[in-house]
Amino acid sequence: MSDLRKRFEAAIMPNYGVPPLALARGEGCRVWDADGDVYLDLIGGIAVSALGHAHPAVVEAVSAQVATIAHTSNLFLHEPEVLLAERLLELLDADGRVFFANSGTEANEAAYKLVRRHAGPDRTYVVAAEGGFHGRTMGALALTGKAAIREPFGPYGADVRFVPYGSVEALHEAVTDRCAAVFLEPTQGEGGVVPPPEGYLAAARRICDETGAALVLDEIQSGIGRTGVWFQHRREGVRPDVITLAKGLGGGLPIGVCVGLGPYGTAFSKGDHGSTFGGNPVSCAAALAVIDTIVKDGLLEHVTAVGDRLADGIAAIEDPLLSGVRGSGLWRAIVLAEPKSAQVEAAAREAGFLVNAVAPDAVRLAPPLIITDEEAASFVAALPEILRKA
Ligand SMILES: *Cc1c(COP(=O)(O)O)cnc(C)c1O
Repeated sequence: MSDLRKRFEAAIMPNYGVPPLALARGEGCRVWDADGDVYLDLIGGIAVSALGHAHPAVVEAVSAQVATIAHTSNLFLHEPEVLLAERLLELLDADGRVFFANSGTEANEAAYKLVRRHAGPDRTYVVAAEGGFHGRTMGALALTGKAAIREPFGPYGADVRFVPYGSVEALHEAVTDRCAAVFLEPTQGEGGVVPPPEGYLAAARRICDETGAALVLDEIQSGIGRTGVWFQHRREGVRPDVITLAKGLGGGLPIGVCVGLGPYGTAFSKGDHGSTFGGNPVSCAAALAVIDTIVKDGLLEHVTAVGDRLADGIAAIEDPLLSGVRGSGLWRAIVLAEPKSAQVEAAAREAGFLVNAVAPDAVRLAPPLIITDEEAASFVAALPEILRKA
């Protein structure tokens, strides 16, 4: 593995640094590195591997599709994209239309263009949240409220006004009838799995209704069962105008989705937007398999039950470094009393668990939705020693 890491360093751009492990294969919630060591995967490729690794439903759907037709471009339509769009609208229980992309950032680029198209020229700016993350391409990056990753790449040709996440008052002040849209995550994922105060999304909906701005919810990390419901906005009974999805939807295959509800579904005219690979049949087949499996195996209830037991187990540990747990379902942050998440991540890896130091004082868990109680409990049992070592 050290040889592979050296070759990585020599051949691949330095933007990721050199990751600590080379993963060679996976099965269920376990992954093996290039040296044959096994780990319990509690991060799931950043909330992507919803059904774990090499799930038979995904393997079969992808294999069958790639052996049938792998690509059509958007010069031709195909059944998997239509089926998936219908399925997503059914799950959203909404009247709308779907645009397919290949990643989260592209889904947000589509959403950004869509709300601009709908708003017309008089609505000159958009509002987004400090600490928010919407992607790395220039439009989505302009919306991203983490200054350290946004500022080096400016200036942006976009008027984006940032408000503190969770403050209804700040939204009230920032959103006027000149505002095209408000972009929010229902819980800030890259920000450290930070849920907003109760009622925040409902207040955002109200403020958008009063001013005519679009409410765009970025459910790229929170959607598709991650929190024990299909979409996190459901918990607050809030209906957005535009929703973006990616990560867990494809079960490891790349896909991004922008859903426009009501009039936003038809705001694009022919020629307004496109993607050569977007809605690729193989990715759509994988996504359909993910959705079917979540339904068939009752995974939403499972996520709620296992996630609550996992959080309760962590919260019951007494350690001066541990200050709490946040999040819901199988999307949690272990909150630390000191900025030692990198040390916790490394100690966990030593002990055979993959977790993610998402913020200096927060360790993110986003395991496959199929993780068993026993697997989750094995991490809880190992955590006191991991914290001591950190
Ligand atoms: C990961 C993420 C994105 C970007 O997705 P990519 O597929 O990496 O482009 C955007 N928004 C949120 C909330 C995310 O978690």
